[in-house]
Amino acid sequence: MKFYIASKTDFYSKKVKKYLIDNLDYEFSNDDPDIVFTIGGDGTFLKAVHKYPNALFFGIHTGHLGFYSNFNYKNLAGLIASIKNNTFTTLNMPLVSATVYAGDKKEIYNALNEITLISSPRTLILDMYINGKEFEEFRGTGICVSTPTGSTAYNKSLGGAILDHDIDAFQITEMAGINSRFYETISAPLVLSGKNTVTLTPGSLYKSISLTADNASYSIEKLSKVVLNYGKSFVRVAVDPNVDFLDRIKRSFFHNTRKSFKK
Ligand code: NAP
Ligand code: MN
Repeated sequence: MKFYIASKTDFYSKKVKKYLIDNLDYEFSNDDPDIVFTIGGDGTFLKAVHKYPNALFFGIHTGHLGFYSNFNYKNLAGLIASIKNNTFTTLNMPLVSATVYAGDKKEIYNALNEITLISSPRTLILDMYINGKEFEEFRGTGICVSTPTGSTAYNKSLGGAILDHDIDAFQITEMAGINSRFYETISAPLVLSGKNTVTLTPGSLYKSISLTADNASYSIEKLSKVVLNYGKSFVRVAVDPNVDFLDRIKRSFFHNTRKSFKK
């Protein structure tokens, strides 16, 4: 078995990396590793996921929020023991994907958090179809299409709902949708079951947009169509069963000074 470590370079992250290398009996390799440890926050995790989409991920949290980084760097011995004894729990985290038809090319972009389609400074105009049926003509800055695990990231800043990770659905949120007597958008986060397919075609002659997939961005010229799907592929992530979803939400988004209900 081969393992790789994607790490931040701060003091604690480097210490964790050294500990893992010293205490794991497997081969350290960046060539198609079976296991990837990420040490840092979500940014470190997302970057590694895009580099090694087939690996099993162990996220060790030394950074900021660390939604994907389940394991605490203070209990590395326990983590190593659970790997050796094969007692860890894994989850398949679904990806959202955009199949982009532009010029004479077709390209697929996958994301664990979200795909965004943005046009600035020109107004983005997209005709949106859900399962082939006309839904709306979106006008505005852009749209964000997120997974449940990505719902606490960009989606949340856009007023989207936080989804429990067990829900098999993806969510579309608007960025500055234009609403007036002439134009209207749904103007609410739209949560669709994972079975749905959303197709977008440019509604204007201006066909340049930028697309982001997690922390990567791409310029798309001569766009003719984007097809959005959910759950066609997965990232395998080891999770600490003792870390509760709602505890993490509370720890991340409420201040420590918040009073408890108990008077
Ligand atoms: P970043 O600028 O460091 O990310 C912004 C923040 O989002 C960081 O605090 C990051 O946590 C956190 N984050 C990432 N994934 C999360 C998740 N699933 N749940 C809760 N928080 C999450 O950039 P980055 O670290 O490379 O991450 C890329 C992500 O940034 C994108 O996928 C997008 O979701 C997010 N983003 C947000 C906005 C916005 O809210 N306006 C704009 C652009 C991008 P760490 O500190 O642990 O890295
Ligand atoms: Mn970050």
